[in-house]
Amino acid sequence: MSDGQVVVALDVGGTGMKCALVRPDGVVVRTERHPTDAARGPAAVVGTILDVAGGLADKARADGLTPIAVGIAVPGVVDEARGVAVWSANVGFRDVPLRDLTVRRLGLPTALGHDVRVGGLAEARLGAGRGTGHVLFVAIGTGIAAAHVVDGTAAVGAHGAAGEIGHILVRPDGPRCGCGRPGCLEAVASAAAIGRRYAELARDTADAPVTAAEVAERAAAGEPLAGQVWQEAIEALADGLASGQALFDVATMVLGGGLAQAGDRLLTPLRAALHERMTFHREPQLVAAALGDEAGCLGAALLALDAVGVRDHQEKR
Ligand SMILES: [Zn+2]
Repeated sequence: MSDGQVVVALDVGGTGMKCALVRPDGVVVRTERHPTDAARGPAAVVGTILDVAGGLADKARADGLTPIAVGIAVPGVVDEARGVAVWSANVGFRDVPLRDLTVRRLGLPTALGHDVRVGGLAEARLGAGRGTGHVLFVAIGTGIAAAHVVDGTAAVGAHGAAGEIGHILVRPDGPRCGCGRPGCLEAVASAAAIGRRYAELARDTADAPVTAAEVAERAAAGEPLAGQVWQEAIEALADGLASGQALFDVATMVLGGGLAQAGDRLLTPLRAALHERMTFHREPQLVAAALGDEAGCLGAALLALDAVGVRDHQEKR
C-alpha cells in the first residue's frame, strides 16, 4: 500500500457529526466536529454531510495525503448493501441514497453503515474486544442496541436490523417500550428508563429529575431507593445479555453508551448477575468500551477501508 492514504470518516448523530481522516493502520490524522442541526430537515443535513466530507478530502490533499474512500455512519435503519439511510427518527432520513450521493459529489468509493454496528466493529477490531474473535458490543444510552461482530465483520441482518437487543422481552408486565410493546429490555434498563423509574418512585420525596448516572451514584452512596432501581436495571440487563449469550456464544461483551460510563458500578454487579444466569453456556468476558464516542467515526473508517479492500489494522498483532 502506498504512503499517505487516508479515508474520510463521518459519524452522523442527532445533534452532532464526528468526522476524521484515518490512515489504514487506524491512526487518526485529523478530527472535526460539526453540528447536525437536524431541525433544518434531511435535505439540509445531507448537504452538510457532503460539504464536510468534501472539505475533509480537500484538506487531506492539501496536506499531501490521498483520500481513497469515504465511510459514513448514520442512526436508524440502514440498508448497507444499497447504501441507503432508510429511516431515522432523530435525523429525519427517509430513503436517502447517501452512498450514491457521496460517490457523485466526491468521486470516491463510499460505504454507509449503521452507527451502533460500526461502533461495534471498531471496538471489536481496535478497542476493548480486540483479538477476541467473537464480540457482542452493547450500547446502552437513550435506547439499547447491539452489534454482533465475528472475525471483524458485523452482522447486518436480512433487513438491516440485526442487533436490536433492546427489544428483547425481559419483563412481560413491564413499562411500554417506544416500539409499542410492553417489557422490552430498553424500556426497563436503558439510561433513560432508569432515570424515569427513579423519578416515578421518588415522586413523593420531590427530587429534581435524576439521570441514570446519578442513580448509580446514589445507589453506591447507600440510598435504598436508588439501590433498588439500579439493581432492577442490572437484573434486566443480565437477562438481556444472557439471551445474547445463548444466541451468539461470544468471547467478549463490550458495554458502551452513556450508561457504561458508570464503570465498575455497572460492571461488577452485572458480571455477578450474568454469572448466576449461565448454565451450560460459557460466560463471556464483560468489559467497558475503550474508544468512547470516537467508536462510530473509527468504525465508519473501517467500513470505508473494507470497501476498498484495505485491511491493515492493528488487530493483526
Ligand atoms: Zn421495544
